Amino acid sequence: MTHLLDVDGVTLRYKTPSSLITATDRVSFQVETGDRFVLLGPSGCGKSTLLKAVGGYLTPEEGEIRIKGRTVKRPGADRMMVFQEFDQLLPWKTVVENVMFPLSVARKLARREAEEKARAYIEKVNLTKFADSYTHTLSGGMKQRVAIARGMAMEPDILLMDEPFAALDALTRRHMQDELLRLWEDTRFTVLFVTHSIAEAIRIGNRILLLSPHPGQVKAEVNDVDRVSAENGEAAELEKRIHDLLFNDPHPETTV
Ligand code: ADP
Ligand code: MG
Repeated sequence: MTHLLDVDGVTLRYKTPSSLITATDRVSFQVETGDRFVLLGPSGCGKSTLLKAVGGYLTPEEGEIRIKGRTVKRPGADRMMVFQEFDQLLPWKTVVENVMFPLSVARKLARREAEEKARAYIEKVNLTKFADSYTHTLSGGMKQRVAIARGMAMEPDILLMDEPFAALDALTRRHMQDELLRLWEDTRFTVLFVTHSIAEAIRIGNRILLLSPHPGQVKAEVNDVDRVSAENGEAAELEKRIHDLLFNDPHPETTV
């Protein structure tokens, strides 16, 4: 079976002048169309490194990454990234120009077509009033919405999100999580979402991959998040189960 994304036994290393750092050790997981797939693990376990490799910015030392069966070799418009940093936008461009930019450059859309699409996605993230503002006039949460609109407007096979809400205050963060879920209900895009917060993983994901501390290895995969969340409301039980799997589980590679 061909998966939308197949991360197959991927080891990623950094070579520095003084050492060889193993960031992830033979990590495997598969993402299907429409999944809200979360990579969860402590800081330094290799989540960002994995996401960059899926993005095509790093090459696995071992294993392979495939999108729709094709080996990932370089960045591509089929995988768009949203980062944690508020400075991922171009400050000399307005909101609509920021969202149009990859549409013009990578998708090679004509100006009118790019602008139409950009404005449609800006509306989806509730920023219509700010479409012609420069991004430095926006709050952190609004900047992240622009970055999400820019990624979604490209209509990629998969949206890659690296702790996009981690630098926001708690209330805004919660609000952005709800917004992302609302967007997902609306368009059912596929997202690979990185976080070190168990609560955020449960709120965002329908599937969660648990990674061990450095070097990152798969500890477990939780595939019934939506069902358990729906049954238990705030999902406190699931949070405890994930906590135990991350920190106490003596048996790696369990599927639950
Ligand atoms: P996470 O996103 O889970 O916090 P990272 O993927 O950023 O983890 O990092 C995984 C490991 O790789 C860490 O030990 C980190 O120090 C190391 N690392 C990350 N980026 C580099 C780099 N550019 N050069 C060398 N080591 C790096
Ligand atoms: Mg990171």
